[in-house]
Amino acid sequence: RIVYVNGDYVPEDQAKVSVFDRGFLFADGVYEVTSVLEGKLLDFAGHARRLERSLSELDMAAPVSMEALLDIHRELIVRNDLTEGMIYLQVTRGADADRDFAFPDPEKVPSSLVLFTQAKSIADSPAAKKGLRVISIEDQRWARRDIKTVQLLYPSMGKMMAKAAGCDDAWMIEDCHVTEGTSNNAYIVKDGKIITRHLSNEILHGITRAAVLRFAKEAQMVVEERAFTIDEAKDADEAFITSASTFVMPVVEIDGAALGDGKPGPVAARLREIYLDESRKTAL
Ligand code: PMP
Repeated sequence: RIVYVNGDYVPEDQAKVSVFDRGFLFADGVYEVTSVLEGKLLDFAGHARRLERSLSELDMAAPVSMEALLDIHRELIVRNDLTEGMIYLQVTRGADADRDFAFPDPEKVPSSLVLFTQAKSIADSPAAKKGLRVISIEDQRWARRDIKTVQLLYPSMGKMMAKAAGCDDAWMIEDCHVTEGTSNNAYIVKDGKIITRHLSNEILHGITRAAVLRFAKEAQMVVEERAFTIDEAKDADEAFITSASTFVMPVVEIDGAALGDGKPGPVAARLREIYLDESRKTAL
């Protein structure tokens, strides 16, 4: 695999970052994951906009322009012959010579940029036919979940808790209400209404979420953006998650309670189809 590290395209075993990199020492970095379908990027503009926002919320400089970033994404697709999967991008506050909590002067320490590809079959996923089983866990992350930082230890622990319970993922709960999944946004469907938490600092503003809600409204489906409780979720007709690496994925069980007939629901299936059709049209 050919990866990108600060201006160079190199084989993955030759790629190097400093031990003083603040991403490594302080999780002082942000990332994006953009999916690739038929060799084309889905919603690059949305991911670039969110990256700019994450960087600005942390007073971090963009290492290259967003136009240059698009070129790097495209170059990696070509060099790795990627037809389907993801491109992972990470910007950190660079490598300062000393370990210091205070941010270094950006004039002296430039931010660092790394990108790599990951091949994965996303469109034709067996999990989409089966649906996911999730558990609920307390949301113990920091309060700025709207910034896409590389600080992902708690979500990793959540996935391990799900695995230990024989499930696929965990939905996180704060004050009895679902915030989101460990690496995805969470939705329930009740009486035909699609309910998902409103945007705030409490959740990541999913790029897939924005697209799916737009498509749902265009298809005359009713969308309610509000917090919902875990009890409401267990009593829902169906549920699903969205993320760039899964698209729309049905959830069939929460904390051992089957939703509806325990099979993927029709709303999730329809949204998955619409999402695939529509995002293919605008891929670039
Ligand atoms: N919430 C969290 C906590 C996530 O980590 C992700 C994916 N990185 C999402 C939601 C979904 O965001 P997107 O649709 O932009 O992939």
